[in-house]
Amino acid sequence: MPTQVLYMEDRRGQEPDPCYLREFDATVLERGPDFVVLDRTAFYAEGGGQPYDTGNLSWPGGAAKVLRVTKEKGVIRHHVDRVPSERLVHGTIDWDRRYAHMRYHTSQHLLSGLVWRIFAARTVGNQLYTDRARVDFQPASFTPEDLARIEGECNRAIEAAHEVRIFQEDRVVVDSKIGDRSLLDLIPASIRQLRVIQVGTADYCPCGGTHLKNTSEIGRVHVVEKRSKGKETDRITYELLPK
Ligand SMILES: [Zn+2]
Repeated sequence: MPTQVLYMEDRRGQEPDPCYLREFDATVLERGPDFVVLDRTAFYAEGGGQPYDTGNLSWPGGAAKVLRVTKEKGVIRHHVDRVPSERLVHGTIDWDRRYAHMRYHTSQHLLSGLVWRIFAARTVGNQLYTDRARVDFQPASFTPEDLARIEGECNRAIEAAHEVRIFQEDRVVVDSKIGDRSLLDLIPASIRQLRVIQVGTADYCPCGGTHLKNTSEIGRVHVVEKRSKGKETDRITYELLPK
């Protein structure tokens, strides 16, 4: 039985919003030497440039730290410093870390969408951290003026307080709407319904990550540097500052 991924649930009409779920109850399905598989989880497993969540699992009379969460061949493993002795556990996510990832991930979509629209440069790689993010664009060779424009456009979209929608859409529809913005070919052909993240009118992209409800929660985008990675690829590193 695959683990039910709680943050992937439908965003509409859920309170708290699935991406903002910090705690949950679960049943242990499998115990490894240093990991457990749960029937349901709110922990994010490393993937798509977003790091894994950390936190803890607790049960009557005990607790374990969740050090890392991985997903391999569809199996989500919670790597722990102590394997729970009980079948029922309560999970709690380190919220500061996760929320930082949500702010960076949503801002990355905004940045990628704007750069695609203005420069027709596609996002070919990205990595998020709690204090910065980097995005690789191709084909791109940004001037200092371009970078100032990208930063300005991002901050305008943040100030416009765009709603971030998450919904399922037929692959054929996504393909027709997205053009060359993203590499749909990387998603197995057997998957016909895609989870789409739409940031106001600024971006539309399939993604399995955790996202904010509104761009106003991002803060302010500050481009730290641009580096050429060769092959017409430019890497932009940015940080988020308080508003
Ligand atoms: Zn994403």
